[in-house]
Amino acid sequence: MTDSCCCPSEAGNNVCDLPAENFQRPPREVNACPRCGKIGKPVQGQTVKSLLSVSLRQVQDVHYLFCRTQTCPVVYFSADGEQAFTVAEVRERVYQKEPQARDVFICYCFRHTVGELRTGTPEVRTAIVDNINSGINAGQCACDLRNPQGSCCLGNVRAMIKRLEKQVAVTT
Ligand SMILES: [Zn+2]
Repeated sequence: MTDSCCCPSEAGNNVCDLPAENFQRPPREVNACPRCGKIGKPVQGQTVKSLLSVSLRQVQDVHYLFCRTQTCPVVYFSADGEQAFTVAEVRERVYQKEPQARDVFICYCFRHTVGELRTGTPEVRTAIVDNINSGINAGQCACDLRNPQGSCCLGNVRAMIKRLEKQVAVTT
């Protein structure tokens, strides 16, 4: 049994959200965001270090989690809830906190924005997904260092395309 999903390590496969076949993920620690109370997504230490805009002297050798609650200002917090870093202390704008903002990246490695997906034709959207997949397969991504969630963006991209397709179906 492999201990990783389909993505390479630079895609943040240790903390990936995508389902993997024949791979049982270890049970996650139950870690709630100190601000909103929702369970966070585990992130690796290098993700927190590369994305924070504050002195890394504040980063400790503990487990950090990513808060994906849109309305919550916390981006990273320590598993014990003692420490929390907000959007103001992160170098990138965070897709999960501003999913409607056109100029926010949804794919941080290959620089695709929310607006690009929203205004794109179905062909453009397919081309974006293909571009991301090709980049991952070529080992050119660095989701663990670039994407605030610390793992591959493909799940977010596919979910957004599905939502956009649904909206079109409703309005036409
Ligand atoms: Zn939160």
